[in-house]
Amino acid sequence: MKQDYAHYLSKTAKELQPSGIRKFFDLAASMKDVISLGVGEPDFITPWNIREAAILSLEQGETAYTANPGLLELRQEITNYLGTRFGVEYDPKNQIIVTIGASQAIDLAFRAILNQGDEVLIVEPAFVSYAPLVSIAGGTPVALSTSPENGFKLTPEQLENAITEKTKAILLCFPNNPTGTSLNKEELTEIARIVEKHDLIVVSDEIYAELTYDEVFTSFSALEGMYDRTILINGFSKGFAMTGWRLGLLAAPAPFVEVMLKIFQYTTMCAPTMLQHGAIEALRNSFHDVETMKRSYRRRRNFVVQTLNKIGLDCHIPGGAFYVFPSIKATGLTSEQFAEELLMQERVAVVPGHVFGESGEGYVRCSYATSMAQLQEALKRMQRFLESKGVYGENTVEILK
Ligand code: PLP
Repeated sequence: MKQDYAHYLSKTAKELQPSGIRKFFDLAASMKDVISLGVGEPDFITPWNIREAAILSLEQGETAYTANPGLLELRQEITNYLGTRFGVEYDPKNQIIVTIGASQAIDLAFRAILNQGDEVLIVEPAFVSYAPLVSIAGGTPVALSTSPENGFKLTPEQLENAITEKTKAILLCFPNNPTGTSLNKEELTEIARIVEKHDLIVVSDEIYAELTYDEVFTSFSALEGMYDRTILINGFSKGFAMTGWRLGLLAAPAPFVEVMLKIFQYTTMCAPTMLQHGAIEALRNSFHDVETMKRSYRRRRNFVVQTLNKIGLDCHIPGGAFYVFPSIKATGLTSEQFAEELLMQERVAVVPGHVFGESGEGYVRCSYATSMAQLQEALKRMQRFLESKGVYGENTVEILK
């Protein structure tokens, strides 16, 4: 029998757009000799002591469920971490949930706070999952576009102008994916003033906190008056090179956590037990590894930004994460055309900026979480591609050597 499946599916689910990042990732994976600057994950393997702790846990037969919000021992380590690193105090007993990646923490936050039609401001360009997760939770995502002229920073005026009577919350992510932009304490404090004035909730995605290069990272919840209205999200994926472990965390005022925990109990039960043991080890003994990886990213960031500017692509220096977001306007191509033609002609995968929101058009995201040798080769190929489009930078011959 031929079924009309569209008839059975939820309207909201049907209307979701597939991730634009995946499309290029899948295309690149089907081709040979591709250098991928497309995917946002560390090129490092999780430090050995963390892996060993998870293996040991399995060997010892720790295969049962943990408490719903995670092992108390891990929640304690998380609160120690948040307290010593960012100066924010949480109670491990009722203010923390260990989630399946930061991804699930974001989902839980929106499900817990949104009623049908509530608007959530999303500072764009933005990580691709925010808007769909707002929609799934019944809210309405509202793009708040930042501009390249001020390095994709959100300004208080912009925020003030975007707020309506339906605005319930704002999603902040600094350092940002895809621009790498980070805001310093003064800039965040100005945002906090507007947040307080309009009684907004802040979902603060701090997944790149450990990968902030030039300034000290400030957690939004540490700002005066923000603790009570912030759902802080972080995770192990980026800083500890643990993307595949799928471990994240959220910290928030107890009434928020109580509601999020109900949803989490029914959908997930708990994060995998043996992996939680790995996470304890990460927080106890692995910050020197994080520091080493961070130094390496910083070196690569400097090299990539300098070289992109030399070969003819305007690129601001991002304060964090592991992405650069150069303008490709000099080529006259759209970002989709640029990414497609670069992949076909030179076998380098980047992500077209428009997948992160309209304000990303005219830009591409390149991840520099790959080896220096690969980056050098990718930039050489990009230079050849640019020259084929009539874009000539300075010192082009030197770079190609
Ligand atoms: N938030 C941002 C800004 C990201 O870039 C990513 C992953 O790319 C995530 C959240 C998801 O992280 P996790 O692997 O912890 O789910």
